[in-house]
Amino acid sequence: MPSFVISEKCDGCKGQDKTACQYICPNDLMTLNKDAMKAYNQEPDACWECYSCVKICPQQSIEVRAYSDFVPLGGSVIPLRSTDSIMWTIKFRNGTLKRFKFPIRTTPEGSIDGRQDARGKDLESQALFTEEEAGKTIPAF
Ligand code: SF4
Ligand code: SF4
Repeated sequence: MPSFVISEKCDGCKGQDKTACQYICPNDLMTLNKDAMKAYNQEPDACWECYSCVKICPQQSIEVRAYSDFVPLGGSVIPLRSTDSIMWTIKFRNGTLKRFKFPIRTTPEGSIDGRQDARGKDLESQALFTEEEAGKTIPAF
């Protein structure tokens, strides 16, 4: 089942250029109705239920209605992400609540230099990133 936005909770990410859900969706499905300042999934059939928008929404206004073999009717699976962990709240259809908290990183948020490994590399080169090193390790037959 695709993601859907609980419009009462969505604040349109306070009118920023791009909403958090637009930024994160790998399939560019989320869009913002600028008049209402509410986001919605513009193509539910194409949603692969990756939960990225659910995890990133600062208002917790997106849910995915999971398939019944995973979450029986009336149950829900809600993530709440912080800078170092994620808490999953599982609600069973009999009302039972369970929460599971997992660490999501081993380094402080924002501390990774994504280009660190690329230092000294020609970023304009057409070669694959590890092509030069890989070429050195190919055994001779
Ligand atoms: S991330 Fe959440 S609050 Fe922001 S626009 Fe999307 S649904 Fe609304
Ligand atoms: S669940 Fe994944 S694919 Fe579906 S709208 Fe959200 S981010 Fe996009």
